[in-house]
Amino acid sequence: MRKPFIAGNWKMYTTLEEAKALALELHELVKDVDDVEIGVMPPFPFLGTITGALNGSPIGVGGQDIYTAAKDDGDPVNTGACTGKVSGPMLASVGCCYTLVGHSEQRQFFGDTDELVGRKVKAAFAAGLIPLLCVGESLDERKAGQTMAVVERQVREGMRLVTAEQAPTLVIAYEPVWAIGTGETATKEQAQDVHAAIRKLLVELCGQTTADAIRIQYGGSVKPSNAAELMSQPDVDGALVCGASLKAASFSAIVRYRETH
Ligand code: PEP
Repeated sequence: MRKPFIAGNWKMYTTLEEAKALALELHELVKDVDDVEIGVMPPFPFLGTITGALNGSPIGVGGQDIYTAAKDDGDPVNTGACTGKVSGPMLASVGCCYTLVGHSEQRQFFGDTDELVGRKVKAAFAAGLIPLLCVGESLDERKAGQTMAVVERQVREGMRLVTAEQAPTLVIAYEPVWAIGTGETATKEQAQDVHAAIRKLLVELCGQTTADAIRIQYGGSVKPSNAAELMSQPDVDGALVCGASLKAASFSAIVRYRETH
């Protein structure tokens, strides 16, 4: 049985004071939850403060991105002289246990290629972090019937450097780009179709046992009113949430999706 994993991506929102208040309020609302894994991804400058504030809480903390600034991450150029970037060991040293990799905003606006995403996944595992590998098609790609081809390519490339031991702990977040921050959510059938295709690909890549262990989150305008329906699907193992994760009440309602519906 896969334990559902609900993660909140705070993107470039909150000040330090707001982030602290959000973390503490959320902790109060979910501290008794043990049947769902919970994570938050605050902005980089606040990570140390938030891991401190959530020490002893069931809420894990992660980065929103990672860089591969070490030769042994397979990066052909970077040795650590990478102004503005944050490495896996840095994230681990402030208490992170996760990192997002290949979020669509990184892919669209900041030049993350499939190849770089694969190396970032490797760098995350090398630092002892669980990568949340984000994949998903644009609206044009969906309209052109390319959804499965795009997602399959992103999963294959993202997992290219993952070892057999690491694979079961990987998390994949299927986030159709057209559903992110738009208020438009994939239907439960659309989500399940893509998640099932990813699961089938995982069987091919790593065998049935590992494929059965890997959590596949859905992301894209998840809110308290649609979380239970999405999560009712057999291959939807949680959610990656931004908008609704910025208020403790709505994020905790998503975490408690089983109780609210
Ligand atoms: C996201 O950016 O990862 C996301 C899912 O955003 P939202 O929940 O706001 O659609």
